[in-house]
This record gives sequence, structure tokens and C-alpha cells, in this order.
Amino acid sequence: MRLLLKLLILFLPIAAVAVEKPIVVIDPGHGGKDEGARVRTFLEKQLTLRTAYLTKKHLETLGYRVVMTRARDVFLPLGTRVVLANRRSPSLFISIHYNSAASPTAKGIEVYYYSKGQQKRRVASKELAGSILDQMVLETQARSRGTKQGNFQVIRDTTMPAVLVEAGFITNSEERALIGTQTYLDKLAKGIATGLDKYVRSKK
Ligand SMILES: [Zn+2]
Repeated sequence: MRLLLKLLILFLPIAAVAVEKPIVVIDPGHGGKDEGARVRTFLEKQLTLRTAYLTKKHLETLGYRVVMTRARDVFLPLGTRVVLANRRSPSLFISIHYNSAASPTAKGIEVYYYSKGQQKRRVASKELAGSILDQMVLETQARSRGTKQGNFQVIRDTTMPAVLVEAGFITNSEERALIGTQTYLDKLAKGIATGLDKYVRSKK
């Protein structure tokens, strides 16, 4: 009897914490036949997947449950990503991308949110975008290109606060060199995770 009581005391708090852990859906952009942006051997679809795995690790360390829309190099239509996310009813949704531009001088990080639709979600998405951008810039010292309104399907048609991160330009030689290192990708990932966590904590 006494042992049972001890076990209850030991495991009840763990069970309570486990229930409270928010779910985050991470969506690594592109995949399979859709390579996304490409500069020589730099493929956006690979970079987004690597960054997603690193972000997952950081978020799990912070106590979040993470679901990825894809975990390998597979093509996934945008509509399928939305359905997968909405079905899990996560607290938050983050799509990860890398940028490209005709101008080789374009560089830095920008975070998109959808500025129409339900007001509560709109406000939350904008705040989440700001928090993630701030922490990513803090971790990497990259140029901030600000938060922006975007009409991307994965942040428009999802039903939870959602952002799309453009983590850097593979068309800028300086930024591309950084993006080619695991150390830099981990800084980006840590920025995404801590930015998300700061946002969640500010709502408690
Ligand atoms: Zn992309």
C-alpha cells in the first residue's frame, strides 16, 4: 500500500506535465521532386529538413511534443501538409524555408504570417513571427528583414497560429557559406525554438 502511494506521488506529476506539453507541427518546405531553391549542391529541400530536425531537438528539450509533416525526402502537396497539421490540432505551426533572389546581395531572415482570417489567430501568428525572428537574429547575428504578411497556403489554410520562416538566402555567397555548416543551422534552429518558447511563455 505504501509502495503504491509512493509510486503515485512519483508518477502523477509526470503524467500531468505530459498532458500539458503543447504540440508543435514543423513543416520542412519542399521535398522529393520539388527541390525548392537550388544553387549548385545547395538544395532547399535538404536544408529545410536538416533545420527541421535540429529545431525538433531543441523544442523537445524545452518540453514540446513535435510532429513533422515530412521526416524524409518525399514530395508532399501543400494541401496535404495543411490537412496533416489541422488533424493533429497542434498549438502552433512552423513552416521552414530558405530563400533565393535574382540579386546576389539579398540576405537575411524574414518570417511570414497570414494577415487575414480569424482575428485571434492573426494576432497570435504575428506575435509568434516577431518572437521567432528576434531570437533567430539574436542567435545568428544575421540581417533581419522583418516580419511580413504572406498568403502562403500552409499558413493561410491551417487553423492554429502559423508562421513561415525564410531562414536565409542560398543565392548570397556569404550566407550560403554559413548555411552550409551544421553549426549555423543549429543556431537557426535554436532561434526558432527559443522564439517559439518565449511566445508560449508570454501567453501564460
Ligand atoms: Zn521554399
